[in-house]
Amino acid sequence: MSRPVTDHSTDRLATPLVTVPGIGPRRAALLQRIGLETVRDVLWQIPRDVIDLTNVTPVRKLKVDERQTVRGVVVDIDARPLSGNRSLTAILVDCGDGAVRATWFNQPWVVKRFRVGDLVLLSGRFRRWRNQWEVNQPLVQWLTDDEVDSAAAGAYCRYPLTEGLSQGEMRRIVRECLQFGLGSVADPLPRSFRQRLHVPPLRQAIHDVHLPPSPTAFEAARRRLLLDDLLEFSLGVLLRRRAWKSVSNVPRIEITPKVDARIRALFPFALTDDQNRAVREIAQDLASGRAMHRLLQADVGAGKTVVALYAMLATIAAGYQTALMAPTELLAAQHWQVVEEWLAHSRVQRILLTGQLTNRERTCALDQIREGQIQLVVGTQAVIQRDVRFARLGLVVIDEQHKFGVMQRAWFSSDRMCPHMLVMTATPIPRSLCLTQFGDLDVTVIRQLPPGRRPVATYRVDSAERRRRAWQFVRERLKEGRQAYVVCPRVGGEAFAGTANAGVPASGGLFAPAADIADPAAGSAQSPPDPEPTVRDEQDDASAVGGIGAVEAARELQAGELRGFRVGLAHGRMPREEKLRAMELFRQGELDVLVCTTVVEVGVDVPNATLMIVLDADRFGLSQLHQLRGRVGRGRFQGYCLLFSESRTEDAVARLEALEKHADGFTIAEVDFELRGPGDVLGTRQHGRLPLRAARLPRDQKMLFEAYRVAEELVESGRIDTPEFAALKTCVLERFGDVTAPLKTG
Ligand code: ADP
Ligand code: MG
Repeated sequence: MSRPVTDHSTDRLATPLVTVPGIGPRRAALLQRIGLETVRDVLWQIPRDVIDLTNVTPVRKLKVDERQTVRGVVVDIDARPLSGNRSLTAILVDCGDGAVRATWFNQPWVVKRFRVGDLVLLSGRFRRWRNQWEVNQPLVQWLTDDEVDSAAAGAYCRYPLTEGLSQGEMRRIVRECLQFGLGSVADPLPRSFRQRLHVPPLRQAIHDVHLPPSPTAFEAARRRLLLDDLLEFSLGVLLRRRAWKSVSNVPRIEITPKVDARIRALFPFALTDDQNRAVREIAQDLASGRAMHRLLQADVGAGKTVVALYAMLATIAAGYQTALMAPTELLAAQHWQVVEEWLAHSRVQRILLTGQLTNRERTCALDQIREGQIQLVVGTQAVIQRDVRFARLGLVVIDEQHKFGVMQRAWFSSDRMCPHMLVMTATPIPRSLCLTQFGDLDVTVIRQLPPGRRPVATYRVDSAERRRRAWQFVRERLKEGRQAYVVCPRVGGEAFAGTANAGVPASGGLFAPAADIADPAAGSAQSPPDPEPTVRDEQDDASAVGGIGAVEAARELQAGELRGFRVGLAHGRMPREEKLRAMELFRQGELDVLVCTTVVEVGVDVPNATLMIVLDADRFGLSQLHQLRGRVGRGRFQGYCLLFSESRTEDAVARLEALEKHADGFTIAEVDFELRGPGDVLGTRQHGRLPLRAARLPRDQKMLFEAYRVAEELVESGRIDTPEFAALKTCVLERFGDVTAPLKTG
């Protein structure tokens, strides 16, 4: 597509800072370090905070012992030692209508910060002393001449800085840029629209955010810049969603009552109300003649697999193929087990595509898929997207994928049919975060747990006495035949690089089962590492930041609290086969306890495992802990989650208490989001950056909802396509690329 028309005024804003008069190469280089390269970057940044200058008190109006601010010029500096080891530093500030003395005791270095002639603001509590106003240890803010002279400056902005750049310099740079570029700022929002949203014109906002006549004006200006950011973002995702929906070569899949009944008969249970609602929404999408792009979000254990399978079977019944893609081989294998179990009496032609297939099996399978004989394919994203060509692909189900947009487009092509897309996630995500990550998808939420499921009883274990009782409790449950996970924050066992089980002395019988696992023929040294590093495994290794290691924990427990029980080990640094076999033995009940890292986080389903013990629990994200406890109590028995933590920090206690108190993953996610921000909630480190320019979450989430609503209205009414909003649309396209062209694969 052709680039949107840019006129000279926007070019001026795109001017590199180095060419702006009064900035120069040295400062341009410093600015680049904090991400500021053009005049636009400088003007659109929002100051860190503002100091209110309208509240400067004239000396004659000062009141004793109230917090006040004065402004003046330093006229005298005095530093003198007192008796003992003490010292007194004082400056005299002339405020025009009187003088103020500021003092510091025992901070002799303070004297170096002042020069006679400095313009300063002093904030503090004032008192009268020997006929003179005095303030001890005030907050000091230095001003430059022109700032004080400028009558417009009713408040005073402070910016994020980098070493070598002072606030004074930054403010000078901002003023240069205002002079250079403010005249070129064009407002993309029509006047009536602005008035409706109660925001100032853009040029005024940019001026006021840097040279605010008052704190109120600053707030209004800031709000305008945030709103623009969020509005453009919302329009970006909504226009993309509309473009996807406009694609017409999409399979139309109608589900007759007969097909519906046949599918339901395959499941060993009736669907819950939430599941039925999800199925209805998906069925509508599939029959609509437009591509489905739906996110199926469910709390752990709420049962989204069955909903996805319903959609897949309906697709097959309509004569199309379908694929279920997981992020790791392990998860793909687990999905496959469920598929096999439920489709045991069905004629659906299906296959699990894994690295284990021989070349011949693989080639044969790929041929059959290309010819359309195989109807249902399960595999990893990597494998399916790289190798597989489908004859008539009708529906793709994607499990646990947070980077959807990128992948999405890979499936579009103008000459092929466009499949429906269902994305699943078991990470409850607060709504604002969901918008930034999946704003271009329709969302279905399943909150309700299947009938008879009791919430996992969760307890903090934070003292020696409680630890003793906790292990006692664990032993009792194990004796009753239940099983336990013990999750550690890191792998540990660094001394035994590579495979942990190999480092365990065989003689002690510490790892009786694990010793069986180690394949003597392969030998741990030669065992190939996992050929496909997985999302969870990466995280597993990355989390080695402290806390107890699984290798050590396993050894200690086997020799101590859990002596006599069969303890195994699974973590992301073990050779893949070894890890899978440990998990398989646990699943079959051949191990009582599985000591592990977060490799068990997603998907493992062992109904007899009722105990989840997390060591150094404060080192995990809250949402992650919620995921972990979702692994237990899935069968007939009550599940227990014991969170071991010695940490007494407020944050740690608050987070673990939230888990004790709330069973609902969505509530947990909100708490986590408030306490920790987006990174923790999304669970992987790569997702720290949101696609927003100035706005921050959760701080600005209310405004995000407002902007999204407004954007929806503009897109649904088609007003976004009218000349009135052409400038705004151009901003969106410049920022996000051509979101109006779904078939562009880039
Ligand atoms: P998740 O959403 O965490 O992936 P699953 O789809 O794995 O949840 O389902 C969790 C467990 O609940 C599975 O063992 C599944 O068979 C069971 N389950 C799902 N839906 C129902 C239902 N409607 N009634 C009874 N059990 C159900
Ligand atoms: Mg599942």
